[in-house]
Amino acid sequence: MSTTNEPLVSELGKFRRPEFWQVFMRCAQVASLIDVAFFFLFHALGSPILAWFNVVSVAIYIVVYYASKNRRKKIAVSLIWLEVIVHAALGVALIGWGSGFHYYLFMFIPAIFLSTSFKPALVALAVLFACLIGLDLMSWFIEPIEPINAFALKIVHMFNMSVVFFMFSYLSFYYLTTARRAQKKLNIMATTDPLTELYNRRHMNDLVDRAIQHSTNNNQVIGIILIDIDHFKKINDLYGHKVGDDVLIKVSEILKKEVRKQDLISRWGGEEFLITLPNSSLVDTQLSAERIREAFVNYNWLNEVGIDVSPTITAGISELKHTENLDSAIARADRALYKGKEGGRNRVES
Ligand code: GH3
Ligand code: MG
Ligand code: MG
Repeated sequence: MSTTNEPLVSELGKFRRPEFWQVFMRCAQVASLIDVAFFFLFHALGSPILAWFNVVSVAIYIVVYYASKNRRKKIAVSLIWLEVIVHAALGVALIGWGSGFHYYLFMFIPAIFLSTSFKPALVALAVLFACLIGLDLMSWFIEPIEPINAFALKIVHMFNMSVVFFMFSYLSFYYLTTARRAQKKLNIMATTDPLTELYNRRHMNDLVDRAIQHSTNNNQVIGIILIDIDHFKKINDLYGHKVGDDVLIKVSEILKKEVRKQDLISRWGGEEFLITLPNSSLVDTQLSAERIREAFVNYNWLNEVGIDVSPTITAGISELKHTENLDSAIARADRALYKGKEGGRNRVES
């Protein structure tokens, strides 16, 4: 988790993942190409039934491709199961277990657990296992119907094994990035405010605890700025909640721009923001807060929000000594903030 004030939600965009349907469509394309190659290969090897089944397979994968394109998951998944199981069974029956056609069945195992809940996954797994054992047993008792020569069989085996290896690698990459993305998303949701993308109150408390530890070790103080937007309710009342939200987003942008990299910003409450400034005395904190207040006054709200809302802010500041906790320093900043409101707003008080 980043501890700087980067927009955290947009970090998700950096973590590209192939989309579910794209993966399906790509698999259908790759499978069709492999089946076209098989068509010529098995013709050349003297196994015409297996060769012609690939025409059926290509047709199935074309349907899978368009079903995926139209988000028809049930059709796409059923057809893939049907094609792979029948193809594996035909391969084993016609040219033998040594062809390695059964390897394709293993590719379903992670897909089963990823795409369904536990109970149906167990059923699907049992069906898959039964197919695999059934094919193995069949090869014990039934001689290959259209056997090919031993060298050709080795080549087919190596080809099938390689295809499964690379498709499995690709799919594993997809499963892993899906899981990591979900984890990252949860982490961001738990630590940030969705509107402003600033740290939420709970996460800020954790981060400040760590900052206090660091300050204690280095005998430093932490500057505290508690900011409240002036007459924010009026903005909502006059222009609507949506404009209010836009203003809050712009406020977070101004704050991010005005603080140092090591400072932490959080959305502390509705239109209240808490900033902590490591190793910053009360005088330095006062200067920073003044700079932020002026940034609000000089901001071109008409350009940025479309309405000249021109909100001002009042800030209460305090100094968190390394012998005290965050709450007492915030209580002082809160009292200072109240003083600022009483004194006419658009000011910094300590
Ligand atoms: P003061 O100068 O005394 O701080 O006045 P104020 O109007 O800013 O303070 P008050 O506490 O009366 O109102 C705060 C308003 O902030 C009320 C609430 O509806 C609004 N608010 C809180 N969170 C959000 C939000 O996420 N979006 C929007 N649009 N408004 C919010
Ligand atoms: Mg308030
Ligand atoms: Mg306010």
